[in-house]
Formats: sequence, structure tokens, C-alpha cells
Amino acid sequence: MQEEIIRAEKFNTLAGLAASIAHEVRNPLTVVKGFLQLMKEEKKDSNQQYYSLVLSELGRAENIINDYLSFAKPELKSVEDVKLLENIHEILALLHPYAIKDGVHLNELIEISDHLLVRVDRNQLKQALVNFVKNAIEATPNGGNVTLVVQKSSDLVTIHISDTGKGMNKEELSRIGTLFYTTKDKGTGLGTMVSIRIIEAMRGTVSYQSKEFVGTTVSISLPIRRDETSSIHTFKDKNKQVI
Ligand code: ADP
Ligand code: MG
Repeated sequence: MQEEIIRAEKFNTLAGLAASIAHEVRNPLTVVKGFLQLMKEEKKDSNQQYYSLVLSELGRAENIINDYLSFAKPELKSVEDVKLLENIHEILALLHPYAIKDGVHLNELIEISDHLLVRVDRNQLKQALVNFVKNAIEATPNGGNVTLVVQKSSDLVTIHISDTGKGMNKEELSRIGTLFYTTKDKGTGLGTMVSIRIIEAMRGTVSYQSKEFVGTTVSISLPIRRDETSSIHTFKDKNKQVI
């Protein structure tokens, strides 16, 4: 118990520190990016070729900062009833170019109606799902597949993200989602941890299944807030309206 408390305190201090550093660094970064963008548009400049490179590296730094910020402050800002299907379509549109760039096929098998509502913070959910799908794409070699299956089962909706990537062994699987665990050169080891925390804050669960050299499936379940198509079945007890 004592150990737990000390660890929690350490975690809070670290989280606070991460947030303040991230805030401080993000401001100058945004300014520099703005100026570079302007200089890039100045076509006469002989340094043209460098601007794209510098801008892309700055973008990467920005990603790291954003990961740290959401790691430190994952609380849900605006919880509302969100159409899950709409949210998933936005994510797929966002990630298709990313998959194409890596030579990965992004497939979908969606078996829910567009009335299905979940009670979440729209942007946070998007961020979490993007993280999971990005990891799947990054683990998958050229020509491989990443497949999103969305299914409903009584009061839960589950999003399975499967990849034909490198998979994980038992040891790796036990480390996924722990702070700073990464096997990538340019990884932060924060994405999964942040995403799991976001899903859990929405009363959801995350589970992994993986086989080394075969692939991984991450399953994200969320409670269904309402699904018009099934309201006839759930409306039995007048005093217990399903809302
Ligand atoms: P990062 O992506 O920055 O490395 P994450 O927290 O998102 O950090 O992921 C941590 C690690 O978990 C990754 O570096 C990778 O080794 C492993 N991982 C996550 N998702 C998958 C996946 N779908 N297949 C194989 N390994 C994965
Ligand atoms: Mg990641």
C-alpha cells in the first residue's frame, strides 16, 4: 500500500513536469514552424529543399509534445453522445494516406448502424483509436493488412484492430502500455499508455492478443449509450428506461 502511494506521487510529479515542459516547448515550436512555412512560400529562396525536411522534423517534435501532453492530462474535456460510425469513418479517412505511404492495406468490416451512440469525448476517442491503428500499420510490413472490425454485442460495442505484422512475444506483450516502452527508433513509448487511459476513462476496456511473426489484435470495448435499432428490445421496464 505504502509502495503504491509513493509510486502514485512520483507518477503525479512526473506527469506535472511533463505537462509544464510540453507547454513551454510547444509555444516556440509553433512560432518557428510558422516562420518556416512563410520562408518556404518565398519561392526565390535557395534553401527550398531544406524547408520540407525541417518542417517534417518539427512536426515530429510536435507529435511527441502532444503525446506527452495527453499523457499528463488525459481527463475528458467534453463528454457527449457521439455516433461511433461517424467517428470511425473520420479516423479511416485520416489514416488511409498513412497506410498507403507504408504499403499497407487498410480494410474495414463494420457491422453497426449509424445510430449507435457512445458517450465519449469525441477528440480523445479519435486520438486513442488513431494511436492503435497507427501502431498496427507501423508493425505491418509492405503488402500486409490492417483490418478494423466493429461489432455489437448486447450493451457493448467492440472495435477489433487486427494486423498481419510482426506480432509480440509474451514478454513484449506484458510490457505494452507501460510508460516509455518502445521498440522503435523514433518512438515515444507513450501512445499505447495514453490510449488505454483514455478508453478506460470512458468506461471502456482494451485487450491485446498477439502471436510473434503472425500479427496482433487489439480489442477496444465501449459501453453503448443508445442504439435506436435495438431500443424496442431494451424498453421492457418503464421505470428503467435505457437512455
Ligand atoms: P511507440 O509507438 O511510440 O513505440 P506505443 O506506446 O504506441 O509507443 O507502443 C509501444 C510499443 O508496443 C511499440 O514500440 C511496439 O513495440 C509495441 N506495439 C504496439 N502495437 C503493436 C502492434 N500492433 N504490433 C506489434 N507491436 C506493437
Ligand atoms: Mg505508437
